[in-house]
Amino acid sequence: MRTRHKSILVILLFVTSAFAQQSADEDLVNSVFRQLLAAPAAAHPGQKYTSWPPNVGIISAQRDGERAAEQMRLNAFAAAPDCHPIVRISQGLVSDVVRGDHDVLALILGHELGHLLLGHPLCTPAKDTPSVMEMAVTREHEYAADAKGYELALAAGYSVRRGLKGLQRLDEVSHYSSFEALGADHPSWTDRIARLDREQAPLWRTMSAFYDGVSFLATENYELAANCFRSVLREFPQAADVRGNLGYTLLMQYIDQLRDDDLRALGIGQIATGSFYAESLHLKSKLRGVDTALWTEAVQTLKAAEQADPTLALVKANLGLAYLVQPTGPDPKQALTYLVRAGSMLSGDKDLQNAYGETAVRAVANNTAVAYLAAGNRRGADGVLQFLWDKQRRITDEQSLLQTAALYFNVGTMLASSDEPDQRRVAADVLLKYLRVESADSIWWKLAYEKYDGVCSGASNGCVTEPQLKASNRTFVREVAAVDLGGGKSLRLGESFRDAKTRIGQGQPVGSVSGASTLRTHYPQYALDVVASDVIIAIILNAKGAPELHLREMGTGSGKASIRYGMTTDELETVLADQPYRYEGLLDAWVPYRFYPGIGIAVRVGPQKTVDELVLVRSSMHSTGE
Ligand SMILES: [Zn+2]
Repeated sequence: MRTRHKSILVILLFVTSAFAQQSADEDLVNSVFRQLLAAPAAAHPGQKYTSWPPNVGIISAQRDGERAAEQMRLNAFAAAPDCHPIVRISQGLVSDVVRGDHDVLALILGHELGHLLLGHPLCTPAKDTPSVMEMAVTREHEYAADAKGYELALAAGYSVRRGLKGLQRLDEVSHYSSFEALGADHPSWTDRIARLDREQAPLWRTMSAFYDGVSFLATENYELAANCFRSVLREFPQAADVRGNLGYTLLMQYIDQLRDDDLRALGIGQIATGSFYAESLHLKSKLRGVDTALWTEAVQTLKAAEQADPTLALVKANLGLAYLVQPTGPDPKQALTYLVRAGSMLSGDKDLQNAYGETAVRAVANNTAVAYLAAGNRRGADGVLQFLWDKQRRITDEQSLLQTAALYFNVGTMLASSDEPDQRRVAADVLLKYLRVESADSIWWKLAYEKYDGVCSGASNGCVTEPQLKASNRTFVREVAAVDLGGGKSLRLGESFRDAKTRIGQGQPVGSVSGASTLRTHYPQYALDVVASDVIIAIILNAKGAPELHLREMGTGSGKASIRYGMTTDELETVLADQPYRYEGLLDAWVPYRFYPGIGIAVRVGPQKTVDELVLVRSSMHSTGE
């Protein structure tokens, strides 16, 4: 009797665990499919089908009959019974081929969703579902569905390369050789990988990591930007533009770490880059100074990009810039070789000018002038600076401000070194303009003040003192993108949530954020919540014991400040005095937050006038145009 009880128990356990597995599989299929649907390319495909989004599910013997389930042991398909689009995947495919691999599943579901978005499956009478197995799939349709599927998977943050490699590996074991298991006319996985490499150019642009990289670059989070571009390159190693971006990012990181002593030692004029601050707001204090290894990596990366695609003018321009800030001192000859080449490519090609924009053209011209000055070629510098001076733009945004500032600096310092009193008088005026528009924390500001101090006695309105100038200076605070959790752990916006979980644990899922394909997860031990799709989109500090956020005020020497959960609005306003904010619904359109776009922080103020929620969010998620 005892044995019988035991065996019943065993069977019961087996049955429950099989059910548990089945529902876990269904959850996985649903969540990956939802993720793919969130991509912009997955919008409703027009009039073809009467409903959208498609219904997705695992084929089961119960629902679809024993025979269908057996026939479709390793299968997936898209169909439109009664014009209602569906995607089905067999249990065999999920348990033997997918085996919990998100990238493989994203590829299979993306391909099927691709067929629907392209309108391949015709509307059929409702009962006819299994007949789609005989549906003729042309090779053209297969390739088109592949391309669409890759686009969806990449946009959703999955790796197509890993997925294809996974399928190729499994082909040997399971003979799963095509998406719909129709055999004959299907390209092999090896074929598909080769095709992926050939047709990569438009694809990497669809990767979320590429856009994340660009947005991190724009907000000067160079380490994060470099990580993003590296992950795009893992997927598409031959993408020269992406490699060029990585090289530029590394170069910016190198320049970002220079101190004013380092710059004094280089003895060059103000170069034009994205932008340039004395100190960054990275949360961890890092070793600053000349990082030769970083410079070398930047130059090697840029050279590899140049070799892969010699038509990229900006890669040449950035190589020129790199030689101006070389750790052992500027090499103006090398710099000019690249800058002049980039300049002539840009000036001779209207399409290139349009593609790169006016900012890039001006930056190249400015840096060419700096290189001429460093080479002692005053005539060459004078010509380029005169050209830029005549074509000055109105200051409308950060970019135009930085370029105008660089122009004032370079013209001012050049004229200040002249022996003619007239030129020195003009220098005083131009340098004063510079000192008024540039942040006092720019590492060139101090150098400019020294030059100004040397020539201002001859100026018509005398000398303005350093404290007077600083008092009227603007403040900058860099976007905060990470939270320090203590114990060497941190959490970054934009990083893979799967990776983050290996450090901080699974947490407690709280539910989805209104309507979106994102999930909110609660971490009581850190007193915070994470909102993530595949990547972390927001970090919410909302309980006692939550980590503080450290900010560094870029203004008049007030040093560090921090904001934290539970502080009063008075305290908050003292710290964030000059930061502009607007009210905005963040996670829920009906709950207003004070959103500070400049630093990527949103604050919900509670009834006691305290900070009840502090949210780190990428400002690129929001429209910044006002
Ligand atoms: Zn197909």
